[in-house]
Amino acid sequence: RVHEGDQLRRKLHNTILELKGNIRVFCRVRPLLPGDEGYNTEEPSVLQYPNSTELLGRGVELIQSQGQKHAFTFDKVFGPEAQQEDVFVEISQLIQSALDGYKVCIFAYGQTGSGKTHTMLGNPDDLHQRGVIPRSLEQIFKSSQSLRAQGWNFQMQASMLEIYNETIRDLLAPSNKVDMTSKQYLVKHDNNGNTSVSDLTLIEVTTWKEVSSLLHRASQSRAVGKTAMNEQSSRSHCVFTLRISGLNESTDQEVHGVLNLIDLAGSERLSRSGSSGDRLKETQAINKSLASLGDVILAIANREQHIPYRNSKLTYLLQPCLGGDSKTLMFVNISPEAKSVSESLCSLRFAAKVNACEIGVPRRNTQSRLAYC
Ligand code: ADP
Ligand code: MG
Repeated sequence: RVHEGDQLRRKLHNTILELKGNIRVFCRVRPLLPGDEGYNTEEPSVLQYPNSTELLGRGVELIQSQGQKHAFTFDKVFGPEAQQEDVFVEISQLIQSALDGYKVCIFAYGQTGSGKTHTMLGNPDDLHQRGVIPRSLEQIFKSSQSLRAQGWNFQMQASMLEIYNETIRDLLAPSNKVDMTSKQYLVKHDNNGNTSVSDLTLIEVTTWKEVSSLLHRASQSRAVGKTAMNEQSSRSHCVFTLRISGLNESTDQEVHGVLNLIDLAGSERLSRSGSSGDRLKETQAINKSLASLGDVILAIANREQHIPYRNSKLTYLLQPCLGGDSKTLMFVNISPEAKSVSESLCSLRFAAKVNACEIGVPRRNTQSRLAYC
């Protein structure tokens, strides 16, 4: 007799095979919000969704003030009406594959204010407004529970860190021991493709309650850094990692999966004249690491011999989880405000490079190691 669970697993496995080796890009355009330019007016939106009468399409067009149109297609495009749940439905199988032993990375890319944190974290305590991190954990806990009937036991460890100016900061370090200078947080990879970061706090999690308190601790730690370090949160990458180990009692089968959920630093460019000193250094570090991420993803997609993982802390940290048979998804988050059009165009172009699907631009021309915009 075929168990229902077996069938489900097989079905998932097939879907996962289809996803294998692919880098996917989803575009999410947030709604205009109170306080935004153009909110509640009849002004036509600077973003349009051709050939899509439904919530979810694949095309998006950006219209500049002179009327110039720029068309893009992505694996999926979520318009302003899309709710957190609608987004999660589209990624739940990818999340599930971490339980099957895959290494998964999901990034949110976009300018500050475009909805990256809303997408990745949302409001973890609100059922409707929860983002990818809380929903993923809930799903993983549920699935791991139901796999117990087949002899599976899972152990999960969470960590959360921030990369600011190419330096790692532990967001779960006990608050009485927050010391940003003395610890090195050295990243090491072993031959089995496992990554360790020295001194990084790892927390065993089994319930949503534990995760919730961990997220609170991290956001407090981020807030502390923010006053101390000049709005650090939008200037740093935030990496949530869940390491999953499963052992089947009856078959001795083992699986080791990793789920990385990454809220990237704001991709906005600073006007050259306006930035100097620390701010300039900060922007250069962000530009460098976002460009490096793009380069790494492109090199993987083009199956190049040399993948330049070592060019930034972020790509080095994630090296074993990018490429190989790992799975990568990037959200490009877009603000619908007219004043953001030029930043939005940059973000869409970056994402199109990653996806190699800007209409009319052949893949071959997207290989150059240019800055990310
Ligand atoms: P970022 O992290 O990219 O800087 P945020 O996620 O903080 O941007 O979003 C900026 C603001 O817009 C926040 O107040 C957030 O709650 C709101 N917001 C973002 N995306 C959406 C959305 N899809 N629906 C409703 N509000 C959103
Ligand atoms: Mg944010």
